[in-house]
Amino acid sequence: MDAISGWLSSTSSAFWEVMGPHRNSPDQPFWSFIGNSFVNMARSYFWFLLIGMVIYLLFVRRRGERLSLWAGLKYLLPASVYKTHSVRIDLLMVPIAWLDNFLLFAGLAVGSGVVQIWLVQHFGHSALHVPAGVLAVTLQIVFTLLGTDMARFAWHLQGHKIPFFWEFHKGHHSAEALHPVFIRTHPVDMFIRTLYMDLGGGLVGGGLMFLLGVDASPSAAGLLVIIGTCFHFMQQFEHSHVKFSFGDRLERIFYPPHFHQIHHSALLEHRDKNLGLTGGLCLWDKLAGTLYVPKPGEKVVYGASTEELGDNNPHRTLWKFLSQPFMEAARTLWRRAPDQLAASGESETTVTR
Ligand SMILES: [Zn+2]
Ligand SMILES: [Zn+2]
Repeated sequence: MDAISGWLSSTSSAFWEVMGPHRNSPDQPFWSFIGNSFVNMARSYFWFLLIGMVIYLLFVRRRGERLSLWAGLKYLLPASVYKTHSVRIDLLMVPIAWLDNFLLFAGLAVGSGVVQIWLVQHFGHSALHVPAGVLAVTLQIVFTLLGTDMARFAWHLQGHKIPFFWEFHKGHHSAEALHPVFIRTHPVDMFIRTLYMDLGGGLVGGGLMFLLGVDASPSAAGLLVIIGTCFHFMQQFEHSHVKFSFGDRLERIFYPPHFHQIHHSALLEHRDKNLGLTGGLCLWDKLAGTLYVPKPGEKVVYGASTEELGDNNPHRTLWKFLSQPFMEAARTLWRRAPDQLAASGESETTVTR
């Protein structure tokens, strides 16, 4: 097991050096965090272009069309997307998102392994025990991914179904163009998401490990780095026009990047659909009744709703994007429940979701 663990640790660090985003650490100074964030962004974009080129060559290029790097780049970097007003707000948000991440990573990241070790130290081992080995490593990986997937779905469902939280999450949906550089996300929404994924995910994953007697192992941690990096690069395609599909059969189980393009649609039939996370399970969407399998060639218009596009977009400036959610969220607290409105004979005129 030691030999496997050593091999995994050296392979994962070599993999991380070549492919992975550079790890940010809470104890590093802010300026090097910014440097890392910038390098991460450039690396991610490089991998988007590389994987995107493969998708273009295999699935998008017409039969018989000659191989052309230029045609591939034109497909992957559509000027019509990058010229939009929407992208400007996204880019202005990048440094704020870095600052937000810098503050969040320090306090909220907690792994399932840490939770499992803490639980064992405080409550002793559970009645069950999985001996160290391949099964234990596999279970740790599955539980950790499951915990993060569930926690992220819970955050997303809350953001779409509860008006107060929707006002903060809506900022992500007011983007009218999808591109992999960075899609605006309100700092409050980022905070809540990190809280769910880094704390909630760690607690669910670590709790399952504790209950079933799976001890945290460095091999699983090494493999999770590799898996997490692969997920990260697939997730780049969620916010792009490129259709990254897993194929009909796998997509019945695992959520592919192109389902998220439907999630960003302003059209009524797509609203609040496909809340899952790329690489995660479609099961959560099935259970919540929010799964929408896109039809072949289905077109979408990106935005929060068809009434809030272009000049009617409430987030036309960075200031409005940042400030409006606070006012709108506060307003949701004062809205009266439908039964109260019915009792008073008034009608609700504000838009509720
Ligand atoms: Zn959403
Ligand atoms: Zn999105």
